[in-house]
Amino acid sequence: MRPTLTQAPSAQDLREKILFHLTHTQGRGPEFATVFDWRLAVSYTVRDLMVGPWVGAIRAARDHGAKRVYYLSMEFLIGRILGDAIINLQLEPAIAEALTQLGLDEQEILDNEPDAALGNGGLGRLAACFMESLSSLRCPAYGYGIRYEHGLFRQSFENGQQVERPEDWLNQPHPWEFVRIDYSYRIGFKGQVETVDGRAVWHPGESVIARAYDTPVIGWGGDWANSLRLWGAHPTTLLDLPRFNAGDYAAAAEPEALARTLSRVLYPDDTTESGKELRLKQEYFLTSAALQDILRRFLAEHDDLSLLPQKVAIQLNDTHPAIAGPELIRLLMDDHGLPFERARDLARATLNYTNHTLLPEALERWSTWLMGRILPRHMQIIQMIDDDHRDATGRPSHVGIVHNDQVHMGELAFIMAGRVNGVSALHTDLVRDTVFADLHKLHPDRIVNQTNGVAPRRWLRMSNPSLTRLLDDTIGNGWTGDLDQLQGLEDHAQDASFRDSLRAAKRANKVWLSNGLLTKLGVKADPDAIFDVQIKRMHEYKRQLLNILEAIALWHRIHDDPNGGWTPRVKIFGGKAAPGYWLAKSVIHLINDVAATINSDPITSEYLQIAYPPNYNVSMAEDLIPAADLSEQISTAGKEASGTGNMKFTMNGALTIGTLDGANVEIRELVGSENFFLFGLTAEEAAAEKARPGHARAAIEASEDLQVALQLIAEGRFGQADSYYSLLDRTWNDDPFLVASDFDAYFAMQRQVDRAFADPASWVRMAALNIARSGFFSSDRTIRGYMRDIWDVRPVTA
Ligand SMILES: *Cc1c(COP(=O)(O)O)cnc(C)c1O
Repeated sequence: MRPTLTQAPSAQDLREKILFHLTHTQGRGPEFATVFDWRLAVSYTVRDLMVGPWVGAIRAARDHGAKRVYYLSMEFLIGRILGDAIINLQLEPAIAEALTQLGLDEQEILDNEPDAALGNGGLGRLAACFMESLSSLRCPAYGYGIRYEHGLFRQSFENGQQVERPEDWLNQPHPWEFVRIDYSYRIGFKGQVETVDGRAVWHPGESVIARAYDTPVIGWGGDWANSLRLWGAHPTTLLDLPRFNAGDYAAAAEPEALARTLSRVLYPDDTTESGKELRLKQEYFLTSAALQDILRRFLAEHDDLSLLPQKVAIQLNDTHPAIAGPELIRLLMDDHGLPFERARDLARATLNYTNHTLLPEALERWSTWLMGRILPRHMQIIQMIDDDHRDATGRPSHVGIVHNDQVHMGELAFIMAGRVNGVSALHTDLVRDTVFADLHKLHPDRIVNQTNGVAPRRWLRMSNPSLTRLLDDTIGNGWTGDLDQLQGLEDHAQDASFRDSLRAAKRANKVWLSNGLLTKLGVKADPDAIFDVQIKRMHEYKRQLLNILEAIALWHRIHDDPNGGWTPRVKIFGGKAAPGYWLAKSVIHLINDVAATINSDPITSEYLQIAYPPNYNVSMAEDLIPAADLSEQISTAGKEASGTGNMKFTMNGALTIGTLDGANVEIRELVGSENFFLFGLTAEEAAAEKARPGHARAAIEASEDLQVALQLIAEGRFGQADSYYSLLDRTWNDDPFLVASDFDAYFAMQRQVDRAFADPASWVRMAALNIARSGFFSSDRTIRGYMRDIWDVRPVTA
């Protein structure tokens, strides 16, 4: 572990600073202060301790002439900041003592912070974990994103159905950010391109200002912080004054309203492309602001643009910022006078692209008409890139960026990237063999793998204090910054007293969650039951439907034989559906309807309960994962790129029931096949099964349990049957994600889980081995891989 802060503040220091900020920053006396006031006072106190390391890191990077990493992402799913900052600055237990002295409840203060929900799910959460690891590893880096005024919508249920309400985290002061009015860039759209003296000049028809809002991200050990720089959209002219003076106030405010629309809301689609004009503008807004900022910083330190690849590494998180290729070429050609070929080479040596999905419906495409209208100069450059690549490679005619009047952003990102990476071993193989098979043949060294990871500070040390205490007592706290040290638990897994402690830690988390489920949802969750958890975005490929059908079939069996020695189980679901994704919404409805029926059945209630807390987000994940016994990772093989939820569960000692998909493959290899509940078709088998006509009907007819489950839904045993006709029809007649084909294998494996859980000594041993062997899934390991294989950057050491 890194040395602790040079002057770690005492509880006394912290208490004084909190009172200072309460009085002088919040402007409140302690006797009038609300929890909100106290939370802000505590946040400013903690923030003060981040600023020194932050300014120091920026200075050190400049003084060393270091290469910087720029991570461009439309999403950063950060969650709460205060608790994580306290952990990374190692302010526990001084802060706890200070708060106690002030008569405050630490948990209440932490819970007062709204989640920064600037992302949909895994992709945005990965970006947040990466930011934390970059700082923990002292890698000079900037995250660039959009400062959405409204993050991901809030989910509630009415009559079992999802209702969306706007999220409004910026309705209150956000204590972690610093506005940089001096870092503002003009972002143009539309207009015309003319040629002046052989050089293209773009005259945008509209423009907005991108203004920087910085948040420091403190690393583990508290001695380095990088910036997360989020762009807010502002008008170029605030007010149409003549109109205002004429009394037309609404029209006068129009420029401002139009500009702000760009950073107003996060698109709530996860792995589905929406194709909307505003989305394209948002993507360009982020990308252009980031690249202008990167070039400004580079040119402040260097005057030779050919050094760019040695000083700058840019990572595109999915294709969302893929317009970076044409934009960087545009800036180098049109603003700096470089010829196309040099601009192209510099851009390609600087840019890299991470692919996150193989689902065809998720691959971004824009019509050439829309692209040409919104970004006319970029459309020209895209055509140049495409022609140039065709001429250089002699590629087959079906390969390319522009096809059928559409711009394919995946191909654009690939062709403009030095390195393209997948996010798990299996996914990278599939990227090579499927989506980018043709481009891979032309550029066989370009695709590399970087298996995802998660930050152990947030996902273990902060969220699971009872397990953290046991780990610290057993192997010391070095695991926090070096997760491979968890291997030290291997030997302890054989030790009965260690296993008792591990079991007690898990049980404490389950008791705590059980109380929450009772008070918030009225669900009675017996802490001695299996806590079986599936939390993730609602999507057909993730197969929440398979899980709820299994629950129905199990319920039916228990009902038939209540004295059959059933292992009690609490199934917990969490997740939002995209507002326009009606099939996913109908699964949400079904889960809630099934829960209502099953939970109140006196015959089975002792053995089976279903809980679906609404509004799944980062904070809820932090509460649920430490209390889980069983992690559901049951996507159709070949569809989940990596998953990161699966890793969080493993390091918190939940066993996985899962398919050979994404990083599940690597989790199973590392924890050992005997400590993992595997079921289902492989990716190859799934592809073959899907091609077999009538596969769904055949599978349903072969499975009595599945037939019963589907029949019970069709009979209206759970809510109105007609709510579910489409879902049933799709399952019988199409079933593209093979719920029916994998049902029996899943049901049988769940019964094996029941038996395994009934032997606590062996279960806890398996859980201990899962934790001990989860070190690989630290995002520190992932970031080291990017630094070595993609970015060629080194940490800055003192
Ligand atoms: C980790 C995480 C995800 C990703 O979960 P998967 O199971 O990998 O899809 C999504 N949302 C939140 C809030 C998370 O914390």
